[in-house]
Amino acid sequence: MPARLNAVRKTGRMVSRRLMRRNRSAAMRFAEAFSRFPVLAGLLGTAIAVSMAVLSFAALWQGRAQALQNAHQASANLVATLSADIARNIEASDLSLRTIISGAQNPAVMALPPDLRKLVLFDGATGMSYVGGAFVMNREGRIVVERDPSQHADLLFNDRDYFRIHADNPNAGLFISEPYASRLRKGASSLAMSRRIDAPDGSFAGVAVIALNVSYFTNLLAHVSVGPSGSVFIVQEDGVVIAREPALQSEEARYVVKSPTLTAMKDAPSGSYISRSAIDGVRRLYTFQHVPGTHLIAAVAPAEHDVLSAWRQRSIIIGGLTLMFGGGFIIISWLLAISLRSRAIAQEKLQRLAGTDSLTGLCNRRALDRRLDEEWRRARRVGQPLSALFVDVDYFKLYNDTYGHAMGDDALIAVADCIQNSAKRPGDIVARYGGEEFVVVLPGAAASGAFTFAERLRVKVEELAIPNGAAPRRVLTISIGCATASPRQSDDALKLLSSADAALYLAKRTGRNRAIHEDSGA
Ligand code: GH3
Ligand code: MG
Ligand code: MG
Repeated sequence: MPARLNAVRKTGRMVSRRLMRRNRSAAMRFAEAFSRFPVLAGLLGTAIAVSMAVLSFAALWQGRAQALQNAHQASANLVATLSADIARNIEASDLSLRTIISGAQNPAVMALPPDLRKLVLFDGATGMSYVGGAFVMNREGRIVVERDPSQHADLLFNDRDYFRIHADNPNAGLFISEPYASRLRKGASSLAMSRRIDAPDGSFAGVAVIALNVSYFTNLLAHVSVGPSGSVFIVQEDGVVIAREPALQSEEARYVVKSPTLTAMKDAPSGSYISRSAIDGVRRLYTFQHVPGTHLIAAVAPAEHDVLSAWRQRSIIIGGLTLMFGGGFIIISWLLAISLRSRAIAQEKLQRLAGTDSLTGLCNRRALDRRLDEEWRRARRVGQPLSALFVDVDYFKLYNDTYGHAMGDDALIAVADCIQNSAKRPGDIVARYGGEEFVVVLPGAAASGAFTFAERLRVKVEELAIPNGAAPRRVLTISIGCATASPRQSDDALKLLSSADAALYLAKRTGRNRAIHEDSGA
Protein backbone atom coordinates (compact mmCIF):
# COMPACT_ATOMS: atom_id res chain seq x y z
CA MET A 1 0.00 0.00 0.00
CA PRO A 2 2.70 2.55 0.91
CA ALA A 3 4.58 1.60 -2.26
CA ARG A 4 1.54 2.40 -4.36
CA LEU A 5 1.11 5.66 -2.44
CA ASN A 6 4.70 6.55 -3.20
CA ALA A 7 4.17 5.79 -6.84
CA VAL A 8 1.12 8.04 -6.93
CA ARG A 9 3.08 10.84 -5.23
CA LYS A 10 5.94 10.41 -7.66
CA THR A 11 3.57 10.59 -10.62
CA GLY A 12 2.00 13.73 -9.12
CA ARG A 13 5.43 15.36 -8.75
CA MET A 14 6.33 14.48 -12.32
CA VAL A 15 3.07 15.92 -13.65
CA SER A 16 3.52 19.15 -11.70
CA ARG A 17 7.15 19.43 -12.84
CA ARG A 18 6.03 18.93 -16.44
CA LEU A 19 3.35 21.60 -15.98
CA MET A 20 5.92 23.98 -14.50
CA ARG A 21 8.23 23.34 -17.43
CA ARG A 22 5.38 23.99 -19.86
CA ASN A 23 4.47 27.21 -17.99
CA ARG A 24 8.09 28.28 -17.93
CA SER A 25 8.46 27.72 -21.62
CA ALA A 26 5.26 29.71 -22.24
CA ALA A 27 6.67 32.52 -20.09
CA MET A 28 9.96 32.33 -21.95
CA ARG A 29 8.14 32.49 -25.27
CA PHE A 30 6.22 35.52 -24.05
CA ALA A 31 9.44 37.17 -22.81
CA GLU A 32 11.12 36.44 -26.15
CA ALA A 33 8.21 37.91 -28.09
CA PHE A 34 8.31 40.90 -25.78
CA SER A 35 12.04 41.43 -26.26
CA ARG A 36 11.52 41.36 -30.02
CA PHE A 37 9.34 44.51 -29.75
CA PRO A 38 11.19 46.68 -27.24
CA VAL A 39 9.02 49.73 -27.96
CA LEU A 40 6.10 47.66 -26.68
CA ALA A 41 7.68 47.67 -23.20
CA GLY A 42 7.85 51.48 -23.25
CA LEU A 43 4.37 51.90 -24.68
CA LEU A 44 2.85 49.34 -22.30
CA GLY A 45 4.59 50.93 -19.31
CA THR A 46 3.40 54.38 -20.39
CA ALA A 47 -0.14 53.14 -20.95
CA ILE A 48 -0.23 51.49 -17.51
CA ALA A 49 1.18 54.60 -15.79
CA VAL A 50 -1.23 56.91 -17.64
CA SER A 51 -4.22 54.63 -16.84
CA MET A 52 -3.25 54.54 -13.17
CA ALA A 53 -2.87 58.34 -13.15
CA VAL A 54 -6.23 58.80 -14.87
CA LEU A 55 -7.90 56.47 -12.34
CA SER A 56 -6.19 58.25 -9.47
CA PHE A 57 -7.19 61.72 -10.71
CA ALA A 58 -10.75 60.54 -11.38
CA ALA A 59 -10.91 59.28 -7.78
CA LEU A 60 -9.56 62.64 -6.55
CA TRP A 61 -12.14 64.50 -8.62
CA GLN A 62 -14.81 62.25 -7.17
CA GLY A 63 -13.45 63.15 -3.71
CA ARG A 64 -13.90 66.85 -4.53
CA ALA A 65 -17.53 66.31 -5.50
CA GLN A 66 -17.99 64.28 -2.30
CA ALA A 67 -16.48 67.09 -0.16
CA LEU A 68 -18.86 69.62 -1.74
CA GLN A 69 -21.77 67.24 -1.28
CA ASN A 70 -20.91 66.71 2.41
CA ALA A 71 -20.60 70.47 2.95
CA HIS A 72 -23.96 70.98 1.29
CA GLN A 73 -25.54 68.31 3.48
CA ALA A 74 -24.13 69.85 6.66
CA SER A 75 -25.28 73.33 5.53
CA ALA A 76 -28.75 72.03 4.72
CA ASN A 77 -29.07 70.64 8.25
CA LEU A 78 -27.85 73.91 9.79
CA VAL A 79 -30.12 76.08 7.71
CA ALA A 80 -33.11 73.87 8.55
CA THR A 81 -32.39 74.25 12.28
CA LEU A 82 -31.98 78.03 11.94
CA SER A 83 -35.13 78.40 9.93
CA ALA A 84 -37.16 76.25 12.37
CA ASP A 85 -35.91 78.29 15.34
CA ILE A 86 -36.84 81.62 13.73
CA ALA A 87 -40.20 80.31 12.51
CA ARG A 88 -41.07 79.01 16.01
CA ASN A 89 -40.26 82.36 17.67
CA ILE A 90 -42.10 84.36 15.01
CA GLU A 91 -45.11 82.11 15.39
CA ALA A 92 -45.03 82.59 19.19
CA SER A 93 -44.81 86.38 18.73
CA ASP A 94 -47.67 86.30 16.22
CA LEU A 95 -49.83 84.50 18.78
CA SER A 96 -48.96 87.24 21.27
CA LEU A 97 -49.96 89.85 18.67
CA ARG A 98 -53.36 88.19 18.25
CA THR A 99 -53.81 88.18 22.06
CA ILE A 100 -52.95 91.89 22.16
CA ILE A 101 -55.46 92.65 19.37
CA SER A 102 -58.32 90.72 20.91
CA GLY A 103 -57.64 92.52 24.22
CA ALA A 104 -57.34 95.93 22.57
CA GLN A 105 -60.68 95.40 20.79
CA ASN A 106 -62.38 94.54 24.08
CA PRO A 107 -63.63 97.76 25.83
CA ALA A 108 -63.77 95.93 29.15
CA VAL A 109 -60.06 95.08 28.92
CA MET A 110 -59.16 98.62 27.87
CA ALA A 111 -61.19 99.93 30.82
CA LEU A 112 -59.12 97.92 33.31
CA PRO A 113 -56.58 99.70 35.51
CA PRO A 114 -53.24 100.05 33.66
CA ASP A 115 -51.39 97.32 35.59
CA LEU A 116 -54.17 94.81 35.17
CA ARG A 117 -54.65 95.75 31.50
CA LYS A 118 -50.97 95.07 30.79
CA LEU A 119 -51.27 91.65 32.37
CA VAL A 120 -54.22 90.77 30.17
CA LEU A 121 -52.76 92.20 26.93
CA PHE A 122 -49.15 91.00 27.08
CA ASP A 123 -48.81 87.25 27.62
CA GLY A 124 -45.66 85.38 28.70
CA ALA A 125 -44.26 85.16 25.18
CA THR A 126 -43.78 88.90 25.02
CA GLY A 127 -41.35 88.54 27.90
CA MET A 128 -38.90 86.47 25.84
CA SER A 129 -35.41 87.94 25.67
CA TYR A 130 -35.57 88.53 21.91
CA VAL A 131 -38.67 90.75 22.29
CA GLY A 132 -37.58 94.36 22.74
CA GLY A 133 -41.06 95.69 23.41
CA ALA A 134 -44.79 95.17 22.85
CA PHE A 135 -47.20 98.02 22.08
CA VAL A 136 -50.71 99.03 21.22
CA MET A 137 -50.77 102.14 19.02
CA ASN A 138 -53.84 104.21 18.22
CA ARG A 139 -54.90 105.43 14.80
CA GLU A 140 -52.64 108.51 15.07
CA GLY A 141 -49.56 106.39 15.73
CA ARG A 142 -49.21 107.10 19.43
CA ILE A 143 -48.54 104.38 21.99
CA VAL A 144 -51.63 103.66 24.06
CA VAL A 145 -50.44 100.65 26.03
CA GLU A 146 -46.87 99.25 26.25
CA ARG A 147 -45.19 96.31 27.95
CA ASP A 148 -42.38 98.37 29.49
CA PRO A 149 -42.90 101.91 30.77
CA SER A 150 -41.11 104.64 28.74
CA GLN A 151 -41.35 108.39 28.01
CA HIS A 152 -43.34 108.18 24.79
CA ALA A 153 -46.09 110.72 25.18
CA ASP A 154 -44.73 113.06 22.51
CA LEU A 155 -43.59 110.34 20.08
CA LEU A 156 -45.46 109.59 16.89
CA PHE A 157 -44.87 106.32 14.98
CA ASN A 158 -47.15 106.93 12.01
CA ASP A 159 -44.08 107.27 9.76
CA ARG A 160 -43.01 103.68 10.35
CA ASP A 161 -43.60 101.15 7.57
CA TYR A 162 -45.20 98.71 10.04
CA PHE A 163 -47.81 101.42 10.84
CA ARG A 164 -48.48 102.75 7.39
CA ILE A 165 -49.08 99.37 5.81
CA HIS A 166 -51.96 98.61 8.17
CA ALA A 167 -53.37 102.15 7.97
CA ASP A 168 -53.53 101.81 4.17
CA ASN A 169 -54.46 98.13 3.84
CA PRO A 170 -57.01 96.34 6.03
CA ASN A 171 -55.82 92.92 4.80
CA ALA A 172 -52.07 93.25 5.37
CA GLY A 173 -52.15 90.51 8.05
CA LEU A 174 -48.90 89.90 9.84
CA PHE A 175 -46.23 92.39 8.74
CA ILE A 176 -42.56 92.16 9.50
CA SER A 177 -40.80 95.49 9.04
CA GLU A 178 -37.41 96.40 7.75
CA PRO A 179 -34.70 96.80 10.39
CA TYR A 180 -34.82 100.20 12.06
CA ALA A 181 -33.14 102.02 14.97
CA SER A 182 -35.51 102.03 17.94
CA ARG A 183 -36.65 105.45 19.16
CA LEU A 184 -37.58 104.03 22.55
CA ARG A 185 -34.56 101.83 23.21
CA LYS A 186 -31.61 104.10 22.44
CA GLY A 187 -31.40 103.23 18.76
CA ALA A 188 -31.22 99.46 19.31
CA SER A 189 -31.56 97.74 15.95
CA SER A 190 -35.02 96.17 15.79
CA LEU A 191 -37.61 94.54 13.56
CA ALA A 192 -41.26 95.13 14.16
CA MET A 193 -43.97 92.48 13.85
CA SER A 194 -47.32 94.17 13.51
CA ARG A 195 -51.00 93.46 12.95
CA ARG A 196 -53.90 95.87 12.34
CA ILE A 197 -56.48 96.58 15.06
CA ASP A 198 -59.90 97.09 13.53
CA ALA A 199 -62.56 99.27 15.12
CA PRO A 200 -66.02 97.62 15.50
CA ASP A 201 -67.04 99.25 12.21
CA GLY A 202 -64.01 97.81 10.42
CA SER A 203 -62.17 101.11 10.24
CA PHE A 204 -58.52 101.48 11.21
CA ALA A 205 -58.17 101.73 14.99
CA GLY A 206 -54.41 101.31 15.33
CA VAL A 207 -51.78 98.57 15.35
CA ALA A 208 -50.43 95.97 17.73
CA VAL A 209 -46.63 95.87 17.57
CA ILE A 210 -43.99 93.50 18.91
CA ALA A 211 -40.42 94.75 18.45
CA LEU A 212 -37.86 92.01 17.91
CA ASN A 213 -34.22 92.70 18.81
CA VAL A 214 -31.98 92.19 15.80
CA SER A 215 -29.42 90.99 18.36
CA TYR A 216 -31.61 87.84 18.62
CA PHE A 217 -30.72 86.96 15.02
CA THR A 218 -27.09 87.98 15.51
CA ASN A 219 -26.81 85.75 18.60
CA LEU A 220 -28.47 82.90 16.76
CA LEU A 221 -25.94 83.14 13.92
CA ALA A 222 -22.97 83.51 16.27
CA HIS A 223 -23.43 79.87 17.32
CA VAL A 224 -23.21 78.57 13.77
CA SER A 225 -19.77 77.42 12.72
CA VAL A 226 -19.10 77.81 8.98
CA GLY A 227 -15.29 77.80 8.73
CA PRO A 228 -12.77 80.67 8.67
CA SER A 229 -14.10 82.37 5.51
CA GLY A 230 -17.71 81.17 5.60
CA SER A 231 -20.74 83.30 6.25
CA VAL A 232 -24.21 82.74 7.61
CA PHE A 233 -26.98 85.29 7.25
CA ILE A 234 -30.63 86.10 7.39
CA VAL A 235 -31.87 88.25 4.57
CA GLN A 236 -35.24 89.64 3.57
CA GLU A 237 -36.66 88.72 0.18
CA ASP A 238 -36.14 92.35 -0.88
CA GLY A 239 -32.42 92.00 -0.30
CA VAL A 240 -31.98 93.67 3.08
CA VAL A 241 -29.64 91.73 5.32
CA ILE A 242 -31.11 91.39 8.85
CA ALA A 243 -28.06 89.76 10.44
CA ARG A 244 -24.83 88.28 9.21
CA GLU A 245 -21.92 86.43 10.69
CA PRO A 246 -19.26 87.75 10.29
CA ALA A 247 -20.90 91.14 10.82
CA LEU A 248 -21.17 93.60 7.94
CA GLN A 249 -18.56 96.33 7.83
CA SER A 250 -20.90 99.13 6.77
CA GLU A 251 -24.59 99.90 6.69
CA GLU A 252 -24.54 100.18 2.89
CA ALA A 253 -23.49 96.59 2.67
CA ARG A 254 -26.79 95.69 4.30
CA TYR A 255 -28.48 95.99 0.91
CA VAL A 256 -27.64 93.17 -1.42
CA VAL A 257 -30.62 93.63 -3.73
CA LYS A 258 -28.51 93.49 -6.85
CA SER A 259 -26.62 90.41 -5.76
CA PRO A 260 -27.03 87.48 -8.16
CA THR A 261 -27.15 85.22 -5.10
CA LEU A 262 -30.37 86.88 -3.95
CA THR A 263 -32.06 86.38 -7.31
CA ALA A 264 -31.33 82.66 -7.04
CA MET A 265 -32.66 82.52 -3.48
CA LYS A 266 -35.86 84.47 -4.13
CA ASP A 267 -37.35 82.01 -6.59
CA ALA A 268 -37.10 78.67 -4.74
CA PRO A 269 -38.25 77.74 -1.22
CA SER A 270 -34.86 76.14 -0.58
CA GLY A 271 -31.77 75.19 -2.56
CA SER A 272 -28.05 75.50 -3.00
CA TYR A 273 -25.58 76.93 -5.48
CA ILE A 274 -21.99 78.13 -5.71
CA SER A 275 -21.41 81.84 -6.27
CA ARG A 276 -19.08 84.74 -5.52
CA SER A 277 -20.34 86.94 -2.69
CA ALA A 278 -21.45 90.46 -3.65
CA ILE A 279 -20.33 91.66 -0.21
CA ASP A 280 -16.73 90.39 0.03
CA GLY A 281 -16.05 88.61 -3.26
CA VAL A 282 -15.41 85.21 -1.64
CA ARG A 283 -16.64 82.15 -3.58
CA ARG A 284 -19.08 80.30 -1.36
CA LEU A 285 -21.44 77.32 -1.34
CA TYR A 286 -24.81 78.83 -0.56
CA THR A 287 -27.52 76.67 1.01
CA PHE A 288 -30.70 78.56 1.82
CA GLN A 289 -34.23 78.08 3.03
CA HIS A 290 -37.15 80.49 3.32
CA VAL A 291 -38.43 80.81 6.88
CA PRO A 292 -42.03 79.58 6.63
CA GLY A 293 -44.67 82.27 7.00
CA THR A 294 -42.19 85.14 6.64
CA HIS A 295 -40.27 86.99 3.97
CA LEU A 296 -37.01 85.97 5.61
CA ILE A 297 -34.41 83.67 4.10
CA ALA A 298 -31.81 81.87 6.23
CA ALA A 299 -28.60 80.97 4.41
CA VAL A 300 -25.43 79.13 5.37
CA ALA A 301 -22.46 79.67 3.06
CA PRO A 302 -19.12 78.03 3.85
CA ALA A 303 -16.30 79.27 1.60
CA GLU A 304 -15.41 76.88 -1.21
CA HIS A 305 -11.78 77.35 -0.25
CA ASP A 306 -12.46 76.12 3.33
CA VAL A 307 -14.64 73.21 2.23
CA LEU A 308 -12.01 71.98 -0.21
CA SER A 309 -8.90 72.71 1.85
CA ALA A 310 -8.58 69.17 3.32
CA TRP A 311 -9.36 67.69 -0.10
CA ARG A 312 -6.84 70.03 -1.73
CA GLN A 313 -4.06 69.03 0.67
CA ARG A 314 -4.83 65.35 0.14
CA SER A 315 -4.96 65.86 -3.62
CA ILE A 316 -1.61 67.63 -3.71
CA ILE A 317 0.02 64.73 -1.85
CA ILE A 318 -1.74 61.93 -3.75
CA GLY A 319 -1.54 63.75 -7.09
CA GLY A 320 2.14 64.51 -6.54
CA LEU A 321 2.94 60.92 -5.59
CA THR A 322 0.90 59.65 -8.55
CA LEU A 323 2.81 61.89 -10.94
CA MET A 324 6.14 60.96 -9.32
CA PHE A 325 5.55 57.19 -9.36
CA GLY A 326 3.82 57.32 -12.75
CA GLY A 327 6.70 59.35 -14.20
CA GLY A 328 9.21 56.95 -12.62
CA PHE A 329 7.33 53.98 -14.05
CA ILE A 330 7.34 55.56 -17.51
CA ILE A 331 11.07 56.34 -17.29
CA ILE A 332 11.85 52.80 -16.14
CA SER A 333 9.67 51.34 -18.91
CA TRP A 334 11.52 53.32 -21.56
CA LEU A 335 14.91 52.49 -20.04
CA LEU A 336 13.87 48.85 -20.24
CA ALA A 337 12.74 49.39 -23.83
CA ILE A 338 16.08 51.02 -24.72
CA SER A 339 18.08 48.25 -23.06
CA LEU A 340 15.92 45.57 -24.74
CA ARG A 341 16.47 47.28 -28.06
CA SER A 342 20.23 47.51 -27.69
CA ARG A 343 20.24 43.87 -26.57
CA ALA A 344 18.21 42.92 -29.63
CA ILE A 345 20.61 44.86 -31.88
CA ALA A 346 23.63 43.21 -30.24
CA GLN A 347 21.99 39.81 -30.56
CA GLU A 348 21.19 40.40 -34.20
CA LYS A 349 24.77 41.49 -34.84
CA LEU A 350 26.06 38.43 -33.03
CA GLN A 351 23.76 36.21 -35.05
CA ARG A 352 24.93 37.83 -38.26
CA LEU A 353 28.55 37.36 -37.24
CA ALA A 354 27.89 33.77 -36.26
CA GLY A 355 26.55 33.14 -39.75
CA THR A 356 29.27 35.05 -41.64
CA ASP A 357 32.59 33.82 -42.92
CA SER A 358 35.22 36.18 -41.55
CA LEU A 359 37.55 36.07 -44.60
CA THR A 360 35.09 36.53 -47.45
CA GLY A 361 32.05 38.01 -45.73
CA LEU A 362 29.87 35.31 -47.31
CA CYS A 363 27.53 33.04 -45.42
CA ASN A 364 29.35 30.33 -43.55
CA ARG A 365 28.31 26.74 -43.42
CA ARG A 366 26.02 27.17 -40.48
CA ALA A 367 24.09 29.97 -42.24
CA LEU A 368 24.07 27.92 -45.42
CA ASP A 369 22.41 25.00 -43.64
CA ARG A 370 19.72 27.26 -42.20
CA ARG A 371 19.02 29.20 -45.38
CA LEU A 372 19.18 26.15 -47.63
CA ASP A 373 16.59 24.50 -45.44
CA GLU A 374 14.37 27.60 -45.70
CA GLU A 375 14.72 27.76 -49.47
CA TRP A 376 14.10 24.05 -49.74
CA ARG A 377 10.85 24.33 -47.85
CA ARG A 378 9.80 27.39 -49.83
CA ALA A 379 10.53 25.63 -53.11
CA ARG A 380 8.47 22.68 -51.94
CA ARG A 381 5.63 25.03 -50.99
CA VAL A 382 5.55 26.90 -54.30
CA GLY A 383 6.45 23.83 -56.38
CA GLN A 384 9.57 25.29 -57.97
CA PRO A 385 12.92 23.62 -58.68
CA LEU A 386 16.04 24.38 -56.65
CA SER A 387 19.58 24.21 -57.99
CA ALA A 388 22.86 24.00 -56.07
CA LEU A 389 26.40 24.63 -57.34
CA PHE A 390 29.51 23.25 -55.69
CA VAL A 391 32.46 25.48 -56.65
CA ASP A 392 36.08 24.48 -56.01
CA VAL A 393 39.18 26.50 -56.92
CA ASP A 394 41.55 24.48 -59.11
CA TYR A 395 45.12 23.84 -58.03
CA PHE A 396 44.80 26.10 -55.10
CA LYS A 397 47.38 24.26 -53.08
CA LEU A 398 49.83 25.11 -55.84
CA TYR A 399 48.71 28.73 -55.69
CA ASN A 400 49.40 28.88 -51.94
CA ASP A 401 52.69 27.15 -52.42
CA THR A 402 53.69 29.62 -55.15
CA TYR A 403 52.43 32.93 -53.78
CA GLY A 404 52.03 32.32 -50.09
CA HIS A 405 49.00 32.05 -47.82
CA ALA A 406 48.30 35.80 -47.67
CA MET A 407 48.04 36.07 -51.46
CA GLY A 408 45.96 32.90 -51.31
CA ASP A 409 43.53 34.67 -48.98
CA ASP A 410 43.28 37.64 -51.36
CA ALA A 411 42.62 35.30 -54.28
CA LEU A 412 39.87 33.57 -52.31
CA ILE A 413 38.30 36.98 -51.55
CA ALA A 414 38.42 37.90 -55.25
CA VAL A 415 36.75 34.63 -56.25
CA ALA A 416 34.15 35.05 -53.47
CA ASP A 417 33.34 38.58 -54.68
CA CYS A 418 33.01 37.34 -58.22
CA ILE A 419 30.55 34.63 -57.14
CA GLN A 420 28.63 37.02 -54.92
CA ASN A 421 28.29 39.56 -57.74
CA SER A 422 26.99 36.88 -60.08
CA ALA A 423 24.16 35.70 -57.81
CA LYS A 424 21.92 38.74 -57.67
CA ARG A 425 18.41 37.36 -57.19
CA PRO A 426 16.87 37.89 -53.75
CA GLY A 427 16.71 34.23 -52.75
CA ASP A 428 20.18 33.31 -54.07
CA ILE A 429 22.62 31.99 -51.46
CA VAL A 430 26.38 32.23 -51.77
CA ALA A 431 28.34 30.49 -49.01
CA ARG A 432 31.88 29.47 -48.28
CA TYR A 433 31.62 25.77 -47.69
CA GLY A 434 35.16 25.49 -46.36
CA GLY A 435 38.73 26.04 -47.63
CA GLU A 436 38.59 26.97 -51.31
CA GLU A 437 35.12 25.55 -51.79
CA PHE A 438 31.93 27.54 -52.23
CA VAL A 439 28.25 26.66 -52.57
CA VAL A 440 25.72 28.65 -54.57
CA VAL A 441 21.99 27.93 -54.17
CA LEU A 442 19.68 29.21 -56.90
CA PRO A 443 15.99 28.94 -55.95
CA GLY A 444 13.67 28.61 -58.93
CA ALA A 445 16.52 27.74 -61.32
CA ALA A 446 15.98 24.65 -63.48
CA ALA A 447 18.88 22.46 -64.64
CA SER A 448 19.59 24.43 -67.81
CA GLY A 449 19.49 27.77 -66.01
CA ALA A 450 21.79 26.51 -63.28
CA PHE A 451 24.26 25.16 -65.82
CA THR A 452 24.24 28.43 -67.79
CA PHE A 453 24.87 30.32 -64.56
CA ALA A 454 27.73 27.95 -63.64
CA GLU A 455 29.35 28.24 -67.02
CA ARG A 456 29.13 32.01 -66.97
CA LEU A 457 30.66 32.05 -63.48
CA ARG A 458 33.49 29.80 -64.57
CA VAL A 459 34.29 32.17 -67.45
CA LYS A 460 34.13 35.21 -65.19
CA VAL A 461 36.66 33.75 -62.74
CA GLU A 462 38.94 32.77 -65.61
CA GLU A 463 38.63 36.33 -66.93
CA LEU A 464 39.79 37.67 -63.59
CA ALA A 465 43.13 36.38 -64.86
CA ILE A 466 44.62 35.86 -61.41
CA PRO A 467 48.04 34.35 -62.19
CA ASN A 468 48.61 30.80 -60.97
CA GLY A 469 51.96 30.13 -62.58
CA ALA A 470 52.30 26.54 -61.42
CA ALA A 471 48.87 25.46 -62.78
CA PRO A 472 48.55 24.10 -66.35
CA ARG A 473 46.42 27.11 -67.48
CA ARG A 474 48.64 29.68 -65.66
CA VAL A 475 45.54 31.45 -64.28
CA LEU A 476 43.26 30.71 -61.38
CA THR A 477 40.21 28.71 -62.51
CA ILE A 478 37.29 27.00 -60.86
CA SER A 479 35.43 23.76 -61.36
CA ILE A 480 31.68 23.61 -60.73
CA GLY A 481 29.36 20.74 -60.08
CA CYS A 482 25.64 21.53 -60.51
CA ALA A 483 22.57 19.67 -59.32
CA THR A 484 18.86 20.47 -59.59
CA ALA A 485 15.99 19.07 -57.56
CA SER A 486 12.24 19.45 -57.34
CA PRO A 487 11.70 19.44 -53.58
CA ARG A 488 8.23 17.90 -53.97
CA GLN A 489 9.72 14.72 -55.33
CA SER A 490 13.13 14.63 -53.70
CA ASP A 491 13.31 14.31 -50.01
CA ASP A 492 16.45 16.06 -48.84
CA ALA A 493 18.48 19.26 -49.38
CA LEU A 494 21.64 17.41 -48.37
CA LYS A 495 21.10 15.01 -51.21
CA LEU A 496 21.05 17.95 -53.57
CA LEU A 497 24.40 19.12 -52.24
CA SER A 498 25.96 15.67 -52.49
CA SER A 499 24.73 15.40 -56.07
CA ALA A 500 26.41 18.72 -56.83
CA ASP A 501 29.53 17.47 -55.07
CA ALA A 502 29.51 14.35 -57.22
CA ALA A 503 29.22 16.49 -60.35
CA LEU A 504 32.16 18.58 -59.10
CA TYR A 505 34.18 15.44 -58.63
CA LEU A 506 33.45 14.59 -62.22
CA ALA A 507 34.48 18.08 -63.34
CA LYS A 508 37.77 17.69 -61.52
CA ARG A 509 38.35 14.30 -63.00
CA THR A 510 37.63 15.42 -66.51
CA GLY A 511 40.17 18.21 -66.54
CA ARG A 512 39.04 21.02 -64.19
CA ASN A 513 38.02 24.57 -65.24
CA ARG A 514 34.63 23.30 -66.23
CA ALA A 515 31.03 23.15 -65.11
CA ILE A 516 29.16 19.89 -65.13
CA HIS A 517 25.49 19.30 -64.35
CA GLU A 518 24.57 16.00 -62.79
CA ASP A 519 21.98 15.51 -65.55
CA SER A 520 24.38 16.25 -68.40
CA GLY A 521 25.41 12.62 -68.59
CA ALA A 522 29.03 13.66 -68.97
P1 GH3 B 1 42.12 20.68 -56.85
O1 GH3 B 1 42.29 21.34 -58.17
O2 GH3 B 1 42.02 19.18 -56.97
O3 GH3 B 1 41.01 21.29 -56.09
O4 GH3 B 1 43.43 20.97 -56.09
P2 GH3 B 1 43.64 21.90 -54.88
O5 GH3 B 1 45.04 22.14 -54.66
O6 GH3 B 1 42.82 23.14 -55.06
O7 GH3 B 1 42.94 21.12 -53.72
P3 GH3 B 1 43.50 20.70 -52.35
O8 GH3 B 1 42.31 20.20 -51.55
O9 GH3 B 1 44.64 19.78 -52.52
O10 GH3 B 1 44.01 22.03 -51.71
C1 GH3 B 1 43.18 23.00 -51.14
C2 GH3 B 1 44.05 24.03 -50.63
O11 GH3 B 1 43.31 25.20 -50.24
C3 GH3 B 1 44.81 23.57 -49.44
C4 GH3 B 1 44.81 24.75 -48.50
O12 GH3 B 1 46.09 25.22 -48.19
C5 GH3 B 1 44.08 25.84 -49.25
N1 GH3 B 1 43.26 26.60 -48.41
C6 GH3 B 1 42.16 26.17 -47.76
N2 GH3 B 1 41.66 27.20 -47.06
C7 GH3 B 1 42.43 28.29 -47.24
C8 GH3 B 1 42.43 29.63 -46.78
O13 GH3 B 1 41.58 30.03 -46.04
N3 GH3 B 1 43.38 30.46 -47.20
C9 GH3 B 1 44.36 30.04 -48.04
N4 GH3 B 1 45.30 30.89 -48.45
N5 GH3 B 1 44.39 28.80 -48.48
C10 GH3 B 1 43.45 27.93 -48.09
MG1 MG C 1 38.97 21.41 -52.53
MG1 MG D 1 40.72 22.86 -55.21
